[in-house]
Parts: sequence; C-alpha cells; structure tokens
Amino acid sequence: MSELSLADAKKATRKAAREQVSKPAYYGPSSETSEPSLSDSTTEETEPADPGRVDHKSRRQTRLAHPSYDVQNLPKPLVECGCGSCPDACDPLYDDRTSFRNFYAQEECPLPQPMTLKRAREAYLVYQVSSYNSDDRTSALERTRVKHGKLLGAERDTFQQFEDVTQIFLSLRLSPIGRSGRWLEPVKLDNRLHDSWGNVRDVLDYHLRDYDSEYVAITATTVSAATPHRHVLVYVDDPDDEVAVEVAQAAVDSHVRNTDGAFAEDHPVEPGERDAGMVLHDPPRADEVSEDTWLYVLDQRGREAFPMTAATMQYVANQRPHWSLAPFCEDGKTGDPQSIKLEGGAIAWATPHNWLTSSRGFKM
Ligand SMILES: [Zn+2]
Repeated sequence: MSELSLADAKKATRKAAREQVSKPAYYGPSSETSEPSLSDSTTEETEPADPGRVDHKSRRQTRLAHPSYDVQNLPKPLVECGCGSCPDACDPLYDDRTSFRNFYAQEECPLPQPMTLKRAREAYLVYQVSSYNSDDRTSALERTRVKHGKLLGAERDTFQQFEDVTQIFLSLRLSPIGRSGRWLEPVKLDNRLHDSWGNVRDVLDYHLRDYDSEYVAITATTVSAATPHRHVLVYVDDPDDEVAVEVAQAAVDSHVRNTDGAFAEDHPVEPGERDAGMVLHDPPRADEVSEDTWLYVLDQRGREAFPMTAATMQYVANQRPHWSLAPFCEDGKTGDPQSIKLEGGAIAWATPHNWLTSSRGFKM
C-alpha cells in the first residue's frame, strides 16, 4: 500500500467512525476483568499462576528480556544504553521524543540492553500513539482493529461451515516467578509458552483425528501482573456431542508437562466450570456485540449478517494487548499511563512470536 493510500484510508476510517458510532469513536473493547490497583504497591486479587500478592515495584524493574538476549530482535524504541557512556540522545525516551528517528541505543551503544518493564511501557505508549497519529505508519492498535474484524469473521465462517460445533476452550498459563523467587523476563515467559505449544497442538490433533476441526490461539497478558498466557479455542464438527472433557484434560496435561513454570494446581479441569480446560457442546453466544465490533466485521468481511460471536471468543478477543492503546488514541485521552494493560502491550510488541495464530482452515 502506498503512503498516500494509507493516509487516505486512515482519514476515511476516522471519518466513518465519527459518523457511524455514537459514543466516542473507536474505543477498543475493554477487558471483562477490571484492573487492580495501578500503583507500585501490591495487589491481592490475581489471576491463576500469578503470585497471590504482586509486588509491582520489583515486577516493573524486571527487564523485558534476559541480558543474554539479542537486542536486535527487539523494536528499537524498547532498547536502551547499557554502557553508561552514551549521549542522552541515544535514549528512546530522551526529551519526550514522539517519533521514530535514526539514532538509537540499539545501534549506537556497545552494550545495549532491553528496557525495564516500566520504561518499556512508557516507550510503547509514546511511539505507538505517535504511529497512530502519523499518516505514513500503522500503529499496533490499528492492526488489532483490522484483525479483530477478520478474527470474528473467521469464526462466523467456521460456525457456518460445520454442522454442529463443539468448542474446546483452553487457558494455558505459567508462573511469572522463577525458582529463585525472582520475576522472570516476559520475553522468556512467552518463549516458554511458544516452545510447548507444538506438543499441545499435537495432542489435540491426535484426539480429534476423526473430526473436522479448526483452532485459533490468542496470547494475552494477565490483568494482575502482565504475565503472558495463551487461550485456545478449538471448533469441532461434532453433531453427536461425542467430544468429552478428556480431550481438554489431555491438552492441559501436555501444557503442564512440557512448560517450565506451569503447574497442575493452576490448571483445574472441572466439567461445567470455567477453568483451564472446558468442552462446550452448545457454546454460548455473546449477549451483545459492541457497535465498534460490528463496524470492524462489516469493514473486513462484507455486509451479510453473521451469527453472534461465541462468548468465549468475545472474552478472548477483548483481551488482545494493543486495545490498551485505545484510550490514548482518541480525543479526551482518558487512559491511565501506568496501566498494567500497557505493559502487556509493550510485551506483545517486544516478543518475536505472533500472538494470534490459527489452523489453516480458520481463515483470517
Ligand atoms: Zn551506551
């Protein structure tokens, strides 16, 4: 796409949003879970696998990746000087810079290092909002909006293609705290999730070998500690409701067995409860879909009617990390710049892995 057409597309999208959506245009869906205290103290209500009390101060001092990590794999704005002798202008956050430039610690410093989570959150916000407001760069939030429509459209196609869908819903987690009691680098956590996923997928393939099925896997971060975790939605053509909870149990067991830092007690599989593994023979649909969501789907998938999104899909799709930018990209700027969700966005930007993947037939 040429720069001109991208700029035109952005203008047209903003205009359409202003005209068609009555509330402040284009707010991303918010997570269904409310965010705990944003201060650097501790929080007590936490998601499974996060520690019971989260010390946010030490968590935010943790670097995005281990010192041995090749910083060339990180986006330039998330890398800072580690030698102590570079000029201030090398720092991506120097002088409140708000745009990309051609002078970065990643290239200039002899000992470049990944930013701490606290600084990475600041850099993520500054650079992504700058991209959003630019006519020649595309922000992570804009990409998320486009993908949101495609994601829900692909689910719609899957529901229509299969006679009777049974859905398997998995929540695969791991502890953000290492054996030494230290916070682990988020990129390392995401690598662990990534490395064991192939085994989980093989287990699902084996158990579902007699069925037509498709899956989509979405990585998000916890609201209590920005810990990466993976949600998997499997759609199985299962008119006789034969697929049982043992399939979910086998997949969860594989994750626990193969993922460093994943424990069985954080992954209960109880039929009828909302836990690490569920099998839904008649997957409930979302009660309502936001106007914005309708707009994204219409935008991406044409104007025919579509069945309501599965409640599980809505829950997962709304957790995608770059929605955290939405409050900062609209007039009014109501977002909290210390939000844990922004830390999740920074981690998503930092990781080399794709946080939205699917089987070949689940066409996004
Ligand atoms: Zn340096």
